[in-house]
Amino acid sequence: MSLYLKYRPISFDDVVEQDHIRDILKSQVKNSECSNNYLFFGSRGTGKTSIARILGKAVNCLESSDGNPCGKCDNCQTIAEGKNLDFVEIDAASHTQVDNIREEILEKALYTPTKLSKKVYIIDEVHMLSKAAFNALLKIMEEPPSYLFFILATTEINKVPDTIVSRSQVFNFKRLSVEYIAQRLEYICDNESINYQKQALKSIANMSDGAMRDAIKYLEQVASLGDVIEENVSVFLGVLDESRLEEFIKIVRKGDFDKVIEFIDNLKNSGIDMYNFVNQLLQHVDKKFMEDPKFYSYFSEAVGETMTALKTYPVSDLVLKTKVYRIINELGFSAQKKESISEDESNNFSDGNIDSGPDKPNLNVEGKEKESSFDTKNSEKVEDSKIEIDFQDVFGKVLENVDKTAIKTILKRYMDVKSYESGVLNLVVINKMQYNIVSKVENKQYLEKIFAKFMDDGFSGIRIHYQSKEDYLNEKL
Ligand SMILES: [Zn+2]
Repeated sequence: MSLYLKYRPISFDDVVEQDHIRDILKSQVKNSECSNNYLFFGSRGTGKTSIARILGKAVNCLESSDGNPCGKCDNCQTIAEGKNLDFVEIDAASHTQVDNIREEILEKALYTPTKLSKKVYIIDEVHMLSKAAFNALLKIMEEPPSYLFFILATTEINKVPDTIVSRSQVFNFKRLSVEYIAQRLEYICDNESINYQKQALKSIANMSDGAMRDAIKYLEQVASLGDVIEENVSVFLGVLDESRLEEFIKIVRKGDFDKVIEFIDNLKNSGIDMYNFVNQLLQHVDKKFMEDPKFYSYFSEAVGETMTALKTYPVSDLVLKTKVYRIINELGFSAQKKESISEDESNNFSDGNIDSGPDKPNLNVEGKEKESSFDTKNSEKVEDSKIEIDFQDVFGKVLENVDKTAIKTILKRYMDVKSYESGVLNLVVINKMQYNIVSKVENKQYLEKIFAKFMDDGFSGIRIHYQSKEDYLNEKL
Protein backbone atom coordinates (compact mmCIF):
# COMPACT_ATOMS: atom_id res chain seq x y z
CA MET A 1 0.00 0.00 0.00
CA SER A 2 1.36 3.42 -0.82
CA LEU A 3 2.37 5.56 2.12
CA TYR A 4 -0.14 8.17 1.09
CA LEU A 5 -3.05 5.79 1.40
CA LYS A 6 -1.68 4.31 4.58
CA TYR A 7 -1.41 7.68 6.26
CA ARG A 8 -4.47 9.46 5.04
CA PRO A 9 -6.70 10.62 7.89
CA ILE A 10 -9.61 8.32 8.72
CA SER A 11 -11.35 10.30 11.42
CA PHE A 12 -11.86 14.02 12.05
CA ASP A 13 -9.41 13.81 14.91
CA ASP A 14 -6.61 12.85 12.51
CA VAL A 15 -7.11 16.12 10.69
CA VAL A 16 -4.80 18.62 12.29
CA GLU A 17 -4.18 21.45 9.87
CA GLN A 18 -7.75 22.14 8.76
CA ASP A 19 -8.96 22.41 12.33
CA HIS A 20 -11.29 25.33 11.53
CA ILE A 21 -13.22 23.03 9.21
CA ARG A 22 -12.87 19.88 11.27
CA ASP A 23 -14.40 21.44 14.37
CA ILE A 24 -17.47 22.77 12.57
CA LEU A 25 -18.15 19.49 10.77
CA LYS A 26 -17.64 17.41 13.89
CA SER A 27 -20.09 19.48 15.83
CA GLN A 28 -22.60 19.36 12.99
CA VAL A 29 -22.46 15.57 12.93
CA LYS A 30 -22.68 15.37 16.70
CA ASN A 31 -25.74 17.59 16.83
CA SER A 32 -27.33 16.20 13.66
CA GLU A 33 -27.17 19.63 12.10
CA CYS A 34 -25.56 18.69 8.81
CA SER A 35 -26.55 20.43 5.64
CA ASN A 36 -27.38 18.46 2.50
CA ASN A 37 -24.93 20.29 0.30
CA TYR A 38 -21.29 20.99 0.97
CA LEU A 39 -18.70 22.62 -1.22
CA PHE A 40 -15.03 22.24 -0.31
CA PHE A 41 -12.51 24.39 -2.13
CA GLY A 42 -8.78 24.87 -1.91
CA SER A 43 -5.60 23.90 -3.69
CA ARG A 44 -4.78 20.27 -4.34
CA GLY A 45 -3.58 17.97 -1.61
CA THR A 46 -5.11 19.97 1.22
CA GLY A 47 -7.41 17.19 2.41
CA LYS A 48 -10.69 17.98 0.66
CA THR A 49 -11.44 14.44 -0.47
CA SER A 50 -10.18 12.88 2.74
CA ILE A 51 -12.45 15.07 4.83
CA ALA A 52 -15.34 14.51 2.42
CA ARG A 53 -15.00 10.76 2.98
CA ILE A 54 -14.80 11.18 6.74
CA LEU A 55 -17.90 13.34 6.70
CA GLY A 56 -19.77 10.91 4.45
CA LYS A 57 -18.89 8.08 6.80
CA ALA A 58 -19.64 10.06 9.93
CA VAL A 59 -23.22 10.83 8.93
CA ASN A 60 -23.82 7.15 8.26
CA CYS A 61 -21.82 5.61 11.09
CA LEU A 62 -23.84 3.39 13.39
CA GLU A 63 -21.58 3.99 16.36
CA SER A 64 -20.06 7.38 15.84
CA SER A 65 -18.55 9.00 18.88
CA ASP A 66 -17.93 12.71 19.31
CA GLY A 67 -18.82 13.21 15.64
CA ASN A 68 -16.12 10.82 14.42
CA PRO A 69 -16.91 7.74 12.32
CA CYS A 70 -16.02 4.56 14.23
CA GLY A 71 -14.36 2.86 11.27
CA LYS A 72 -15.61 -0.52 12.46
CA CYS A 73 -19.34 -0.74 11.97
CA ASP A 74 -20.85 -2.30 8.89
CA ASN A 75 -21.48 1.02 7.23
CA CYS A 76 -17.99 2.40 7.87
CA GLN A 77 -16.42 -0.79 6.57
CA THR A 78 -18.42 -1.21 3.40
CA ILE A 79 -17.77 2.44 2.58
CA ALA A 80 -14.04 2.07 3.21
CA GLU A 81 -13.94 -0.99 0.96
CA GLY A 82 -15.75 0.89 -1.78
CA LYS A 83 -18.53 -1.68 -1.75
CA ASN A 84 -21.43 0.48 -0.66
CA LEU A 85 -23.67 1.48 -3.54
CA ASP A 86 -25.16 4.34 -1.55
CA PHE A 87 -21.77 5.98 -1.33
CA VAL A 88 -20.76 7.32 -4.71
CA GLU A 89 -17.48 9.02 -5.54
CA ILE A 90 -17.13 10.75 -8.86
CA ASP A 91 -14.05 12.43 -10.24
CA ALA A 92 -15.34 14.99 -12.69
CA ALA A 93 -11.80 15.53 -13.99
CA SER A 94 -11.65 12.11 -15.60
CA HIS A 95 -13.45 12.62 -18.87
CA THR A 96 -14.83 9.15 -19.35
CA GLN A 97 -17.08 9.63 -16.39
CA VAL A 98 -18.35 13.07 -17.19
CA ASP A 99 -20.95 11.82 -19.62
CA ASN A 100 -22.40 9.52 -17.03
CA ILE A 101 -22.61 12.08 -14.30
CA ARG A 102 -25.77 13.69 -15.49
CA GLU A 103 -27.44 10.34 -15.76
CA GLU A 104 -26.08 9.20 -12.45
CA ILE A 105 -27.28 12.31 -10.68
CA LEU A 106 -30.60 12.68 -12.43
CA GLU A 107 -31.72 9.10 -12.33
CA LYS A 108 -30.05 7.32 -9.50
CA ALA A 109 -29.76 10.00 -6.86
CA LEU A 110 -33.48 10.14 -6.36
CA TYR A 111 -33.84 6.54 -5.30
CA THR A 112 -33.79 6.24 -1.53
CA PRO A 113 -30.66 4.61 -0.15
CA THR A 114 -30.86 0.92 0.54
CA LYS A 115 -28.04 0.36 2.98
CA LEU A 116 -27.18 3.74 4.44
CA SER A 117 -29.31 6.38 6.07
CA LYS A 118 -27.79 9.06 3.84
CA LYS A 119 -26.97 8.60 0.21
CA VAL A 120 -23.62 10.30 -0.29
CA TYR A 121 -22.26 11.79 -3.49
CA ILE A 122 -18.70 13.06 -3.43
CA ILE A 123 -17.94 14.89 -6.64
CA ASP A 124 -14.30 15.81 -6.97
CA GLU A 125 -13.13 18.62 -9.27
CA VAL A 126 -16.76 19.56 -9.64
CA HIS A 127 -15.90 22.62 -11.75
CA MET A 128 -15.29 20.21 -14.64
CA LEU A 129 -18.93 19.19 -14.88
CA SER A 130 -20.78 19.99 -18.07
CA LYS A 131 -23.48 22.61 -18.07
CA ALA A 132 -26.13 19.92 -18.35
CA ALA A 133 -24.71 18.09 -15.35
CA PHE A 134 -24.64 21.30 -13.32
CA ASN A 135 -28.25 21.93 -14.19
CA ALA A 136 -29.22 18.46 -13.10
CA LEU A 137 -27.30 18.93 -9.89
CA LEU A 138 -28.83 22.29 -9.26
CA LYS A 139 -32.34 20.98 -9.65
CA ILE A 140 -31.76 18.44 -6.91
CA MET A 141 -29.82 20.80 -4.69
CA GLU A 142 -32.65 23.29 -4.72
CA GLU A 143 -34.92 20.94 -2.86
CA PRO A 144 -32.86 18.00 -1.79
CA PRO A 145 -34.62 14.98 -0.28
CA SER A 146 -33.48 14.64 3.32
CA TYR A 147 -31.52 11.45 2.64
CA LEU A 148 -29.40 12.97 -0.10
CA PHE A 149 -25.98 14.29 0.75
CA PHE A 150 -23.70 16.10 -1.71
CA ILE A 151 -20.08 16.92 -0.99
CA LEU A 152 -18.56 18.82 -3.87
CA ALA A 153 -14.85 19.53 -4.01
CA THR A 154 -12.93 21.82 -6.31
CA THR A 155 -9.59 23.51 -6.78
CA GLU A 156 -11.21 26.26 -8.85
CA ILE A 157 -14.20 27.71 -7.11
CA ASN A 158 -14.45 30.57 -9.59
CA LYS A 159 -15.51 28.04 -12.21
CA VAL A 160 -18.39 26.69 -10.12
CA PRO A 161 -21.71 28.40 -10.96
CA ASP A 162 -22.87 30.86 -8.30
CA THR A 163 -26.18 29.06 -8.11
CA ILE A 164 -24.39 25.95 -6.85
CA VAL A 165 -22.16 27.90 -4.48
CA SER A 166 -25.07 29.75 -2.94
CA ARG A 167 -26.89 26.50 -2.17
CA SER A 168 -23.93 24.92 -0.43
CA GLN A 169 -22.15 25.26 2.83
CA VAL A 170 -18.79 26.42 1.60
CA PHE A 171 -15.49 25.58 3.26
CA ASN A 172 -12.14 27.03 2.29
CA PHE A 173 -9.26 24.56 2.71
CA LYS A 174 -6.05 26.38 3.44
CA ARG A 175 -2.74 25.28 2.04
CA LEU A 176 -0.79 23.18 4.47
CA SER A 177 2.19 24.87 6.05
CA VAL A 178 5.70 23.63 5.36
CA GLU A 179 6.18 23.04 9.09
CA TYR A 180 3.09 20.90 9.33
CA ILE A 181 3.95 18.83 6.29
CA ALA A 182 7.51 18.33 7.55
CA GLN A 183 6.15 17.20 10.91
CA ARG A 184 3.85 14.71 9.29
CA LEU A 185 6.70 13.35 7.16
CA GLU A 186 8.76 12.97 10.30
CA TYR A 187 5.96 11.02 11.92
CA ILE A 188 5.72 8.74 8.90
CA CYS A 189 9.49 8.20 8.78
CA ASP A 190 9.57 7.31 12.47
CA ASN A 191 6.73 4.89 12.00
CA GLU A 192 8.23 3.27 8.93
CA SER A 193 11.78 3.22 10.32
CA ILE A 194 13.08 5.42 7.55
CA ASN A 195 16.34 7.28 8.28
CA TYR A 196 16.10 10.98 7.63
CA GLN A 197 17.58 14.42 8.13
CA LYS A 198 15.12 17.02 9.31
CA GLN A 199 16.38 19.49 6.74
CA ALA A 200 15.72 16.98 3.98
CA LEU A 201 12.12 16.58 5.09
CA LYS A 202 11.78 20.33 5.09
CA SER A 203 13.05 20.49 1.51
CA ILE A 204 10.47 17.93 0.49
CA ALA A 205 7.77 19.87 2.28
CA ASN A 206 8.87 23.03 0.54
CA MET A 207 8.79 21.37 -2.82
CA SER A 208 5.29 20.03 -2.34
CA ASP A 209 3.79 23.51 -2.35
CA GLY A 210 1.25 22.90 0.40
CA ALA A 211 0.03 19.55 -0.89
CA MET A 212 0.35 16.63 1.50
CA ARG A 213 -0.25 14.06 -1.19
CA ASP A 214 2.72 15.27 -3.22
CA ALA A 215 4.92 15.50 -0.14
CA ILE A 216 4.30 11.89 0.83
CA LYS A 217 4.75 10.74 -2.75
CA TYR A 218 8.11 12.52 -2.92
CA LEU A 219 9.12 11.06 0.41
CA GLU A 220 8.36 7.60 -0.86
CA GLN A 221 10.40 8.15 -3.99
CA VAL A 222 13.42 9.41 -2.14
CA ALA A 223 13.13 6.72 0.53
CA SER A 224 13.06 4.02 -2.11
CA LEU A 225 16.63 5.02 -2.96
CA GLY A 226 18.06 5.08 0.54
CA ASP A 227 18.15 7.45 3.46
CA VAL A 228 16.20 10.65 3.23
CA ILE A 229 19.08 13.08 3.35
CA GLU A 230 19.53 16.44 1.64
CA GLU A 231 21.81 15.04 -0.99
CA ASN A 232 19.33 12.42 -2.13
CA VAL A 233 16.50 14.89 -2.03
CA SER A 234 18.22 17.37 -4.25
CA VAL A 235 19.37 14.72 -6.70
CA PHE A 236 16.11 12.85 -7.03
CA LEU A 237 13.68 15.67 -6.71
CA GLY A 238 15.88 18.36 -8.11
CA VAL A 239 15.17 20.57 -5.14
CA LEU A 240 17.34 23.62 -5.10
CA ASP A 241 18.30 25.67 -2.15
CA GLU A 242 16.68 29.13 -2.10
CA SER A 243 20.13 30.70 -2.22
CA ARG A 244 20.79 29.02 -5.56
CA LEU A 245 17.51 30.28 -6.98
CA GLU A 246 18.46 33.75 -5.77
CA GLU A 247 21.84 33.38 -7.40
CA PHE A 248 20.24 32.57 -10.72
CA ILE A 249 17.95 35.58 -10.56
CA LYS A 250 20.87 37.76 -9.63
CA ILE A 251 22.99 36.77 -12.60
CA VAL A 252 20.05 37.24 -14.94
CA ARG A 253 19.54 40.75 -13.59
CA LYS A 254 23.19 41.49 -13.98
CA GLY A 255 22.95 40.33 -17.57
CA ASP A 256 25.84 37.95 -17.08
CA PHE A 257 25.04 35.46 -19.78
CA ASP A 258 28.26 33.44 -19.33
CA LYS A 259 27.31 32.77 -15.75
CA VAL A 260 23.79 31.82 -16.83
CA ILE A 261 25.20 29.21 -19.20
CA GLU A 262 27.48 27.92 -16.48
CA PHE A 263 24.59 27.75 -14.02
CA ILE A 264 22.30 25.87 -16.37
CA ASP A 265 25.08 23.46 -17.37
CA ASN A 266 25.71 22.76 -13.72
CA LEU A 267 22.06 21.98 -13.18
CA LYS A 268 22.09 19.64 -16.12
CA ASN A 269 25.21 17.87 -14.90
CA SER A 270 23.68 17.32 -11.49
CA GLY A 271 20.72 15.66 -13.16
CA ILE A 272 18.24 18.37 -12.29
CA ASP A 273 15.21 18.50 -14.47
CA MET A 274 14.80 21.89 -16.18
CA TYR A 275 11.05 21.89 -15.86
CA ASN A 276 11.38 21.25 -12.19
CA PHE A 277 13.93 24.03 -11.92
CA VAL A 278 11.69 26.56 -13.64
CA ASN A 279 8.82 25.46 -11.46
CA GLN A 280 10.84 26.13 -8.33
CA LEU A 281 12.08 29.38 -9.73
CA LEU A 282 8.53 30.60 -10.28
CA GLN A 283 7.45 29.54 -6.82
CA HIS A 284 10.35 31.46 -5.43
CA VAL A 285 9.45 34.50 -7.53
CA ASP A 286 5.90 34.32 -6.23
CA LYS A 287 7.22 34.68 -2.70
CA LYS A 288 9.44 37.60 -3.59
CA PHE A 289 6.96 39.21 -5.96
CA MET A 290 6.07 42.31 -4.00
CA GLU A 291 9.69 43.17 -3.45
CA ASP A 292 9.99 44.13 -7.08
CA PRO A 293 6.74 43.57 -8.96
CA LYS A 294 8.01 45.24 -12.07
CA PHE A 295 10.98 42.99 -12.59
CA TYR A 296 9.36 39.82 -11.32
CA SER A 297 6.21 40.15 -13.37
CA TYR A 298 8.31 40.44 -16.50
CA PHE A 299 10.68 37.71 -15.43
CA SER A 300 8.04 35.17 -14.39
CA GLU A 301 6.00 35.72 -17.51
CA ALA A 302 9.02 35.26 -19.72
CA VAL A 303 10.41 32.23 -17.92
CA GLY A 304 6.93 30.75 -17.51
CA GLU A 305 6.58 30.70 -21.28
CA THR A 306 9.29 28.06 -21.49
CA MET A 307 7.34 25.54 -19.46
CA THR A 308 5.30 24.07 -22.28
CA ALA A 309 8.35 23.89 -24.50
CA LEU A 310 10.33 22.24 -21.74
CA LYS A 311 7.87 19.37 -21.68
CA THR A 312 8.26 18.56 -25.34
CA TYR A 313 11.55 19.96 -26.61
CA PRO A 314 14.32 17.35 -26.55
CA VAL A 315 17.21 19.59 -25.46
CA SER A 316 15.58 21.26 -22.50
CA ASP A 317 18.56 23.25 -21.27
CA LEU A 318 18.81 24.89 -24.67
CA VAL A 319 15.23 26.11 -24.45
CA LEU A 320 15.97 27.74 -21.15
CA LYS A 321 19.25 29.24 -22.27
CA THR A 322 17.57 30.74 -25.33
CA LYS A 323 14.80 32.22 -23.26
CA VAL A 324 17.10 33.70 -20.68
CA TYR A 325 19.27 35.12 -23.42
CA ARG A 326 16.20 36.95 -24.72
CA ILE A 327 15.27 38.14 -21.26
CA ILE A 328 18.71 39.58 -20.75
CA ASN A 329 18.64 41.30 -24.11
CA GLU A 330 15.22 42.67 -23.40
CA LEU A 331 16.32 44.03 -20.04
CA GLY A 332 19.41 45.46 -21.68
CA PHE A 333 17.35 47.52 -24.13
CA SER A 334 17.07 50.37 -21.73
CA ALA A 335 20.22 50.75 -19.75
CA GLN A 336 18.47 53.44 -17.77
CA LYS A 337 15.84 51.05 -16.65
CA LYS A 338 18.54 48.79 -15.31
CA GLU A 339 20.21 51.70 -13.64
CA SER A 340 17.07 52.59 -11.80
CA ILE A 341 16.73 49.02 -10.59
CA SER A 342 20.23 48.94 -9.17
CA GLU A 343 19.84 52.40 -7.68
CA ASP A 344 16.92 51.17 -5.71
CA GLU A 345 18.86 48.23 -4.45
CA SER A 346 20.37 50.39 -1.75
CA ASN A 347 16.92 51.31 -0.58
CA ASN A 348 16.00 48.20 1.32
CA PHE A 349 12.80 47.19 3.00
CA SER A 350 12.48 48.23 6.58
CA ASP A 351 12.89 44.76 7.98
CA GLY A 352 16.15 44.43 6.16
CA ASN A 353 15.77 40.96 4.75
CA ILE A 354 15.45 41.96 1.17
CA ASP A 355 18.55 42.04 -0.86
CA SER A 356 17.41 43.18 -4.24
CA GLY A 357 14.90 45.29 -5.99
CA PRO A 358 12.98 48.40 -5.11
CA ASP A 359 10.25 48.26 -2.55
CA LYS A 360 6.66 49.04 -3.37
CA PRO A 361 6.52 52.83 -3.07
CA ASN A 362 9.71 53.25 -5.06
CA LEU A 363 8.23 51.14 -7.75
CA ASN A 364 5.43 53.60 -7.97
CA VAL A 365 7.82 56.44 -8.56
CA GLU A 366 9.74 54.37 -11.01
CA GLY A 367 6.55 53.51 -12.86
CA LYS A 368 5.75 57.15 -13.23
CA GLU A 369 9.23 57.80 -14.53
CA LYS A 370 8.57 55.28 -17.23
CA GLU A 371 5.48 57.17 -18.31
CA SER A 372 7.09 60.53 -18.40
CA SER A 373 10.43 59.32 -19.78
CA PHE A 374 13.35 58.64 -17.58
CA ASP A 375 15.14 61.95 -17.29
CA THR A 376 12.35 64.43 -16.69
CA LYS A 377 11.51 65.11 -13.12
CA ASN A 378 8.28 66.97 -12.90
CA SER A 379 6.94 68.49 -9.76
CA GLU A 380 3.91 66.22 -9.60
CA LYS A 381 6.14 63.23 -9.31
CA VAL A 382 8.19 64.73 -6.48
CA GLU A 383 5.05 65.56 -4.61
CA ASP A 384 3.76 62.06 -5.13
CA SER A 385 6.91 60.45 -3.93
CA LYS A 386 6.78 62.50 -0.75
CA ILE A 387 3.38 61.11 0.10
CA GLU A 388 4.48 57.62 -0.82
CA ILE A 389 7.59 57.78 1.32
CA ASP A 390 5.48 58.85 4.23
CA PHE A 391 3.29 55.79 3.77
CA GLN A 392 6.27 53.60 3.31
CA ASP A 393 7.49 54.78 6.65
CA VAL A 394 4.16 54.02 8.31
CA PHE A 395 3.94 50.69 6.53
CA GLY A 396 7.42 49.77 7.68
CA LYS A 397 6.63 50.67 11.27
CA VAL A 398 3.42 48.70 11.16
CA LEU A 399 5.32 45.72 9.78
CA GLU A 400 7.74 45.90 12.68
CA ASN A 401 4.87 45.94 15.13
CA VAL A 402 2.82 43.10 13.73
CA ASP A 403 3.48 39.98 15.77
CA LYS A 404 1.14 37.59 13.97
CA THR A 405 3.26 35.77 11.43
CA ALA A 406 0.51 35.20 8.91
CA ILE A 407 -0.52 38.85 8.90
CA LYS A 408 3.07 39.95 8.67
CA THR A 409 3.62 37.80 5.61
CA ILE A 410 0.51 39.14 3.95
CA LEU A 411 1.50 42.69 4.69
CA LYS A 412 4.96 42.17 3.33
CA ARG A 413 4.10 40.23 0.21
CA TYR A 414 0.57 41.01 -0.79
CA MET A 415 -0.43 44.39 0.57
CA ASP A 416 0.12 47.96 -0.38
CA VAL A 417 -1.26 51.36 0.49
CA LYS A 418 -3.66 52.65 -2.13
CA SER A 419 -4.80 55.99 -0.86
CA TYR A 420 -5.63 58.01 2.19
CA GLU A 421 -8.94 59.79 1.94
CA SER A 422 -10.87 61.63 4.60
CA GLY A 423 -9.26 59.75 7.41
CA VAL A 424 -9.61 56.32 5.84
CA LEU A 425 -6.47 54.53 4.79
CA ASN A 426 -7.23 52.34 1.80
CA LEU A 427 -5.16 49.21 1.59
CA VAL A 428 -5.05 46.79 -1.28
CA VAL A 429 -4.42 43.05 -1.20
CA ILE A 430 -3.48 41.30 -4.42
CA ASN A 431 -4.39 37.76 -3.50
CA LYS A 432 -7.94 36.65 -2.89
CA MET A 433 -7.16 34.13 -0.16
CA GLN A 434 -4.93 36.54 1.70
CA TYR A 435 -7.59 39.18 1.29
CA ASN A 436 -10.15 36.89 2.90
CA ILE A 437 -7.85 36.30 5.83
CA VAL A 438 -6.82 39.86 6.44
CA SER A 439 -10.29 41.32 6.07
CA LYS A 440 -11.71 39.13 8.81
CA VAL A 441 -13.06 41.44 11.49
CA GLU A 442 -10.58 40.47 14.17
CA ASN A 443 -7.59 40.76 11.84
CA LYS A 444 -8.73 44.06 10.44
CA GLN A 445 -9.23 45.48 13.90
CA TYR A 446 -5.85 44.17 14.92
CA LEU A 447 -4.19 45.94 11.99
CA GLU A 448 -6.20 49.09 12.49
CA LYS A 449 -4.93 49.41 16.04
CA ILE A 450 -1.34 49.23 14.87
CA PHE A 451 -1.86 51.64 11.99
CA ALA A 452 -3.51 54.09 14.38
CA LYS A 453 -0.27 54.38 16.33
CA PHE A 454 1.58 55.76 13.34
CA MET A 455 -1.01 57.72 11.39
CA ASP A 456 -1.93 61.37 11.85
CA ASP A 457 -4.72 62.69 14.05
CA GLY A 458 -7.28 62.58 11.27
CA PHE A 459 -6.97 58.80 10.92
CA SER A 460 -10.28 57.07 11.43
CA GLY A 461 -9.62 53.55 10.19
CA ILE A 462 -8.53 51.27 7.39
CA ARG A 463 -10.46 49.81 4.52
CA ILE A 464 -9.16 46.72 2.80
CA HIS A 465 -9.75 46.14 -0.89
CA TYR A 466 -9.05 43.21 -3.12
CA GLN A 467 -7.36 43.83 -6.43
CA SER A 468 -6.01 41.22 -8.82
CA LYS A 469 -2.26 41.12 -9.29
CA GLU A 470 -2.68 42.19 -12.91
CA ASP A 471 -4.87 45.17 -12.11
CA TYR A 472 -2.54 46.20 -9.35
CA LEU A 473 0.42 46.12 -11.68
CA ASN A 474 -1.40 47.85 -14.50
CA GLU A 475 -2.15 50.67 -12.15
CA LYS A 476 1.39 50.79 -10.85
CA LEU A 477 3.29 50.55 -14.07
ZN1 LIG B 1 -18.99 3.40 11.97
